Amino acid sequence: MDLELSDEQEAVRRLARDFVRREVTPHAAAWDRAEEVDRGIVKKLGEVGFLGLTIDETYGGSGGDHLAYCLVTEELGRGDSSVRGIVSVSLGLVAKTIAAWGTEEQKRTWLPGLTSGEHVGCFGLTEPGTGSDAGSLATRAVRDGDEYVIDGSKMFITNGTWADVVLQFARSTDAPGHKGVSAFLVPTDTPGLTRRAVHGKLGLRGQATAELVFDGVRVPASAMLGEEGKGFSVAMSALAKGRMSVAAGCVGIAQAALDAAVAYAGEREQFGKPIAGHQLVQELISDIAVDVDAARLLTWRVADLIDRGKPFAVESSKAKLFASEAAVRAANNALQVFGGYGYIDEYPAGKLLRDARVMTLYEGTSQIQKLVIGRALTGVSAF
Ligand code: FAD
Repeated sequence: MDLELSDEQEAVRRLARDFVRREVTPHAAAWDRAEEVDRGIVKKLGEVGFLGLTIDETYGGSGGDHLAYCLVTEELGRGDSSVRGIVSVSLGLVAKTIAAWGTEEQKRTWLPGLTSGEHVGCFGLTEPGTGSDAGSLATRAVRDGDEYVIDGSKMFITNGTWADVVLQFARSTDAPGHKGVSAFLVPTDTPGLTRRAVHGKLGLRGQATAELVFDGVRVPASAMLGEEGKGFSVAMSALAKGRMSVAAGCVGIAQAALDAAVAYAGEREQFGKPIAGHQLVQELISDIAVDVDAARLLTWRVADLIDRGKPFAVESSKAKLFASEAAVRAANNALQVFGGYGYIDEYPAGKLLRDARVMTLYEGTSQIQKLVIGRALTGVSAF
C-alpha cells in the first residue's frame, strides 16, 4: 500500500478542507445548540460532488475511489459530525447500496437525486425491540398481488425526518433465520408511513434522527432491493462499507481534538509558562496524536482493500472499533487540556466528546465489532 496520496486525492482533500472551513465550521456550534443543521447544506454537499463519491457518473455520481471518500468524510467529521453523518448515510449506506444491488431502473430512479442532494436517503434497520440482533427484526412485508404491504417501526433513523427515501428491511417470507429478510426502497411520502423526530440526543444534535412507523404501507414488488430473502446480506454489505465511513469520521473528530488541544496549550499559561511546556500536558497531546495516526492508517487500509477488490469486512470492523474508541479518548484528552473551559460549549472539546460517543454504539456497538473480529479469528460465532 502506498501511503503517499496521489495529486488527485490531495486535491479532493483540499477541496473538502476549504468547503468545511467555509460552509460548516462557522455554523457547527450554532447548529448543535439549535438541534438542527441548516438543510441547505445538503444541496451544497451535492454541488461540490461529495454526495456522489465512488458512484458512477452515468447516475450523476462524481466517481473517485474509496480513499478519496475517506478523505472527504474525515474533513467533514473534523468540522461537524452531524454533517458528516448526513453523507455517511445518504451516500454511504443508501446510494452506494443501490449502486451495488439495484436494478437499472432503481439506479436511474434514485441515484441522480441522492448524488445531487436534491433527495436525502435514510437507512432503516434498527427497531424499538431490535438493535444489535438486527436479524431478528419484526417489521413484516406481506405480498398482495403485485405489491407488498409493510407494517412495523424503525428506531433511531439518521436523516429520518428529512429523507425522501428509506432503504428499509422487513421480514417478507417465513424462511427461518435471516433468510426471510428483504430490503425495500420506500418513498417517505407513501401513505401509511409516519415519522417522529427523536430529540434530546447527547451528541449529533444537529442531525435529524427519527422513529419511522409503517402502517399498511404499500409498495410495488419492484421496490425490493436485491432478491427476496437476501435483505440481510444487503444490510450487512452496506454496514461493512459504512463502518469504514464511521471510522473516517472518527479520525476527523480525533484530528479536530488534536488541533484544538495543541492551539490551546500554546496560548494558556499556568505556573508562569504555556501549559504546552508541562510534561503531563504533552502526554495528553501525544496520546491524541498517536490515536489519530493509528485510526487513520487502519481506515485507509480498508479503503485500499475495497479499491483493490479484496475482502475488507473484518478490517472495517477493526477500523471502526479502534477509531471510535480512539475518538472518544482523543476528545476526552482534549477536554482535559482545556481544563474547566473544556466543559463549556464556547470551546470545541465538549461537542467533540459528545459527538464521538455515539460512534461506539451505531453501525454495531464496540462489543459487536469484537464478536465479528473474534468469529473471523477463531472460526466460532459467539453471537
Ligand atoms: P442493544 O442491541 O440493546 O445493546 C445494548 C448493550 O448490549 C450494548 O452495550 C451492546 O453492545 C450489548 N450487547 C448486545 N448484544 C450483545 C452480545 N451478543 N454480546 C455482547 N454484548 C451485547 N440504526 C439504523 O438502522 N439506521 C440509522 O440510521 C441509525 N442511526 C442512529 C443514530 C443514532 C444517534 C443512534 C443512537 C443510533 C442509530 N441507529 C441507527 C441505531 C444503532 O445502530 C443501534 O442503537 C445499535 O445497533 C445498538 O442497538 P441498541 O441501541 O438496540 O442496543
